[in-house]
Amino acid sequence: MLKVAASDETGMINIKPIGIVKSEFKAPEQVPITGGGSLIEIFPEYRRGLLRIEENSHLWIQMWFHKARRDILTVVPGKVNPNLPEYGVFCLHAVSRPNPIALSLVRLEQVRDNLLFVSGLDAIDRTPVLDIKPYYEQEIVFSPVTPYIRPLKREMRQEIFMKQAMLHHQEKCAGLLLGVRMALVADDYLGQLNSRVLKVTVNGSPCLADVVQGLSNARFANPPRFRYNETGDLGQSVWEKDGSRLTITARRPVTADEFFNTDDQQIFSIEFKE
Ligand SMILES: [Zn+2]
Repeated sequence: MLKVAASDETGMINIKPIGIVKSEFKAPEQVPITGGGSLIEIFPEYRRGLLRIEENSHLWIQMWFHKARRDILTVVPGKVNPNLPEYGVFCLHAVSRPNPIALSLVRLEQVRDNLLFVSGLDAIDRTPVLDIKPYYEQEIVFSPVTPYIRPLKREMRQEIFMKQAMLHHQEKCAGLLLGVRMALVADDYLGQLNSRVLKVTVNGSPCLADVVQGLSNARFANPPRFRYNETGDLGQSVWEKDGSRLTITARRPVTADEFFNTDDQQIFSIEFKE
């Protein structure tokens, strides 16, 4: 069994893994940025610690990224976008850090004996698991201030928006697909969507409104950034930032297949005023 030890003033910190990740990803570069489906095998001596774990839908998983570099303090988040500036490792979820402890929020799909089937875990096969904690509702900060680590590739932005939308809305409905596509267009024109100076108005279905709100983190008040009118139309969103105004109107409903294979212009009429 792997033993992790670090010295401090009082002596040694001993951390024993409680389990191990079993995943199809064998190398770090194979792991998608939003993670994938994995199995966590809890070692038999810790199995009693899983009592009632199935009452949770989401868990925090702490792991030890055993292949990470421990000798650097700044990195460029190059997997996301090689053109970004350097950041301190304590200001990113980068794998490289003095103590390569990883923190991953996963969905608990199934529990069988000492096996946890989870989705959204960004770890390679045989990664040691250090700890598991439930994700509680009161831990949610709806609109935190964060830097914008914008992925260079649109596919990666889409992958991240899709994950964020699914976490917020929790069903892959037509409103979700439309909302994610609208958010991608708004991001192309206006940049960071969860900016405190970006305001958004949604006209359309409650599903579209919920998804756009989840992706923009725009609240109804404090500060007021979100407005919604329920209509039976296909859907429209109006985004305003720094005097610019972007109006995205759906021309037609989007199926899951079209979502990935159709140009913005075919789905939307887009009007931008600077
Ligand atoms: Zn929905």
